[in-house]
Amino acid sequence: MELVSLILLITLFLCIGSFSSVVIYRLILIEFSNTNINLFKPRSHCPKCKKNISLIHLIPLVGYLLQQGKCIYCKAKISYKYPLHELIHAAAGLFIYFYFGINFTSFLIYILFSIFYILFECDLQKLFLPFYLNCLITIIGFLTAFNSNIFHIESLNIFNITQFELSIYGFIVGYFILWFINIIYKFFKKRDGIGGGDFLLLGGIGSLVGPFILPPIIFIGSISTLILGLIYKLNLNNELPLGSGLIIGLFIYLLARFFELSLFGLVL
Ligand SMILES: [Zn+2]
Repeated sequence: MELVSLILLITLFLCIGSFSSVVIYRLILIEFSNTNINLFKPRSHCPKCKKNISLIHLIPLVGYLLQQGKCIYCKAKISYKYPLHELIHAAAGLFIYFYFGINFTSFLIYILFSIFYILFECDLQKLFLPFYLNCLITIIGFLTAFNSNIFHIESLNIFNITQFELSIYGFIVGYFILWFINIIYKFFKKRDGIGGGDFLLLGGIGSLVGPFILPPIIFIGSISTLILGLIYKLNLNNELPLGSGLIIGLFIYLLARFFELSLFGLVL
């Protein structure tokens, strides 16, 4: 690929990362406050002094550097997470491009990455898994299952059933494993231990990869959730961001597959 095309591609990934930041910020605001806001209106502004951000300062990475991480009007600190989201989206985009090439599957995998990223942040910040984004994962899982596994991991199908059936079973197993664990928890503790968004998320992950690798994803996901709880100093007796942990579980599992690594001594 020519250098100019590569720079354009990286710029596109940075812009999608920037848009993801907006989606995370606004979805949380829409859910938890009464402000009259949607994903596109009003224009991007400083949350403290409410002044509109000029176009040049909206350019990914460049805007943050030009403002030196502070609002130019009121000097309120701009979270380091904005450039971080942009850089992570660029890195993921480049990985997908070099690993899968440019095709429709790569495009869908990148969309999935971005949805998972937004869900991860929303759950981590507010234990909130936006319903429509959660559903979108399952829809992509079902629609892409007619051909082969979206991640091209053929060996996931150890029984000779169609990819679409595998996807359906994946959704059912993912959804109901957590639902069932919650029923048992509720029986003893008289309150919900796992949120409905988590059932749907694991169902969505199941629809993408089938039922057989859900156990390692749940295992890695649970450990990741505890680690997130410790890092962010959350009260371990209260709710933890299980959704974020499961997304890390899926991510680690897929990376291990792509790089043919073994996890915990097991060749996956
Ligand atoms: Zn300001």
